[in-house]
Parts: sequence; C-alpha cells; structure tokens
Amino acid sequence: MNHDDLNYWSKRAADWASDYHRKLRDRPVRAPLVPGAIAQQLPMVAPDAPEPIAAIFADFERIVPQGMTHWQHPRFFAYFPANASPASMLAEQLANAMACQGMLWQTSPAATEIEQVMVGWLRDALGLPQGFVGTIHDSATTATLSAVLTMREQATAFQGNFKGMQSNILRIYASAQTHSSVDKAVRVAGIGQDNLVKIATDAQFSMRPESLDAAIRADLAAGLLPAGVVLCAGGTAIGAFDRIGACIAVAKSHGLPVHVDAAWGGSAMICPEFRALWQGVEGADSIVFNPHKWLGVQFDCAVQFLRDPGPQVKSLGLRPSYLETAGREEIVNFNEWTVPLGRRFRALKLWFTLRAYGLDGLRKRIRNHVQWAQESCVAVAAIPSVKIITQPILSLYTFALEDDAQTERLLQRINDDGRIYLTQTLHDGRYVIRVQVGQFDCTQADVMMIAQVVAELIG
Ligand code: PLP
Repeated sequence: MNHDDLNYWSKRAADWASDYHRKLRDRPVRAPLVPGAIAQQLPMVAPDAPEPIAAIFADFERIVPQGMTHWQHPRFFAYFPANASPASMLAEQLANAMACQGMLWQTSPAATEIEQVMVGWLRDALGLPQGFVGTIHDSATTATLSAVLTMREQATAFQGNFKGMQSNILRIYASAQTHSSVDKAVRVAGIGQDNLVKIATDAQFSMRPESLDAAIRADLAAGLLPAGVVLCAGGTAIGAFDRIGACIAVAKSHGLPVHVDAAWGGSAMICPEFRALWQGVEGADSIVFNPHKWLGVQFDCAVQFLRDPGPQVKSLGLRPSYLETAGREEIVNFNEWTVPLGRRFRALKLWFTLRAYGLDGLRKRIRNHVQWAQESCVAVAAIPSVKIITQPILSLYTFALEDDAQTERLLQRINDDGRIYLTQTLHDGRYVIRVQVGQFDCTQADVMMIAQVVAELIG
C-alpha cells in the first residue's frame, strides 16, 4: 500500500464511518459475544506475503464492528463517556496524517504551541485563575501518577527515588471515593498502597476536612512523612465531590501539595452554575480533567493544570544530550512535564472541537445531560421495586433492587437486551447500577429509554 492507495482507502474509510455513525442506534450497545469469538476468526500467524488492502478492509467490515462495544452509541450510559465529536475525529485524521512526535518544541513547534494555547483556553473556560499552566497527557491515570511522583520528590527534597530515605514512611491522603488510579499511582511511585490513607467521608461521601487534619497529625506524631493530598471532584462510583476548598485549607496548613482528580466532573465546570461543586479549587497545585470523557474530544486527551510546573519538571524532566535544545530558554519541551518521552499531537482535536461547537454549544450539551439525567432518575424511581440509591450528581445516579443478586440479574438482562448499556459499582457495600448521561449525540428520547427498558426487563 502506498500513499495513492491511502488516498483512495481514506475516502472509503470516511464513507464507512459515516454509514457506521448513521446506523449506530440499530446496533446493540455492548458487544454480544463470547470470549474468543473474534480471535478465532484470525489466522494464528502473520502473513509472509503482502495482502491486498481490499481484502484487509473487507475482513475489517466483516469481523470488527460486530465485535465492538459502541462507545459512540447514543444510548451508551455505562462507565463514563469517551466522547468523540465529529470535529475531533477530523482533527485526529489530520494528526494521523502527519504522525508527528511532539516531545520537544523543535520536533513539532505547532503541536507544542497549540497545546499551550489550548491549556489556556480551557483554564479560562473552567474558571481557573490565570496563573495555571499545564500540559496534555494520554490519561488521567498518567496525570495523577505524575502528580504523585512529584509529591514524592518534593517530600524527599528531590533526592531522586528516596535516596537516603525510607520509602515506607511517605503518606498520601485520599477518600475512598477517589479513582483506583490513585491506588495505582502510589503503588507505581513506590510509596505503597498501605501508605495511601483513606480518609473518612460524610453523608455526601465527601472527604471530612477534620478527619484529614487528624490523620495528618497522627502520622506526623508517629514519625511518618505526609507527602500530599489527592481530592476527588466527581468520583467514578457515584460522582462524589470532596469539600475541595476546606480540604485544601487543611493540606496547606501542613504545607502539603494537593492534586484534584476531576477526570469526569471537570468538563461540567465550563458551566459556571456547577462550579460551586469544586469551590476553592483555585488553591490546588495540580488538577486533571479529561476532555476525552465528557467534552467531546476524542480519546486520548487528559489535561493537567499546574499552579507551578517547576516541581513536576524537576521530578520528571531529563535532558540526555540528544534531546538538548540549549540556547532556547523561551521554549517548552513538554516531554519534561510528563512520564513518556514521545507525545502525540493531542491539542489539535481540542482546537477543532472548541472551535466547531464553541463553549456555548458544549455547555448546552452538558446542561442537557444533567437535566435529562434528573428526568430519567425520576422516571426510574417510579418503577415499582426500584430504589434510587444515590441522587444525580451532575449527570450520574445509581439505583438497585431489593437485594444484590436481583440487581445483578437485572443488569445482565439489560445489557444482553442491547438497547442501552449500564454498568455496576459497589456503593456502601451494596451492588448498584450506575447511570451516567453524557454521550455526545444522545437525545432526550435516548435517555428516557433507560426507564422504559428497566421497566420492561424488571421481570
Ligand atoms: N479519575 C476518575 C474520576 C475516573 O472516572 C477515571 C476513569 O474513568 C480516571 C480517573 C482514569 O481515567 P483515565 O482512563 O484517563 O486514566
């Protein structure tokens, strides 16, 4: 295959994509497959001889789409959305065509500079103070890992991986509502999951600032070394928000850095009326949110805002001689802000999305999702034997039947049916079904189908 073939097949792929999206509602949302069903359709070894792209394309059409769970399906209400607006898809095509590496300013000046400008646009759109700068990671997990590595280095005076320190005395604080990426970060950072202190929460499942303070004091008294606090702004299970301002005040009183995980909830902050949920966030040192979840920017795109990039660059930045760009002090080499060296051109899809829909268009979508989630919750609550377990926080609520086994069976029936896709979580020791509304193309009718399907299948 050469570039002339690519030209032809790209157009075929665009036609295929258009047809796929037009007919998505007719497909079951979750792949109705048994494990191994796709693998058994592929040869076990790679071909020695080149194959015509027409044959490869035909196999794609035959095998792949029906082996997929359709994340862009308008009735995808599982996990969190991984929205891909058409504008972001177009930008990805263009970024793919150039296939650049954005590790240094000079390896892709436009990628670096558009990234800087997009972080500024988003900072302002979310109502954060001017001082914040930032970068784009592949995922919130990587951003949180970067923040935790920075906390570790700051707490150990940048001695590089605990040189001369006992690794098992560092302590990180978070609530049980924070995402498992925080557990992973402390594990990967060598701090150890035992040193991730899970702080008690209140009736709203928000971290108690006084419990945070007590835990830090107890650790100090025990000769341990508090290193930082990770706060939750829209938890994965039920959408919980910690009391951000009050917890930051406690952390600051102990001189500790704070990272806020707003992977999902952050997108909603383009709407000023939701900002009370993370009131006080401007005091954080680091904030991550995923435009690839709710903002419509195709995966992968996780933006980390930093009050001062200095500590993170000191923790993660390395300059082997082949990456030196001496004499250009005014430039930013973003690989020094992140874990990987190589970087995709992720800012392009932000640029396209923010311009193609405008902040007003994106706000309208998010406001619709929040309102439709509330309407859907009322409709689901009216179904006999359904109990709403947590009321909507932004566009996420949970419900259950009388006991866990019944709830699990209902979820199985819903997802085998295929019209909608929901997933479960364990909340307060109970198996519950989560509903999140946030797919880019969903309509009110799509959302109201949740109650219809649940009522039909409740048995
Ligand atoms: N934080 C929260 C609140 C999440 O819900 C998720 C994933 O759903 C993550 C972090 C991890 O996101 P990513 O897949 O970008 O690593």
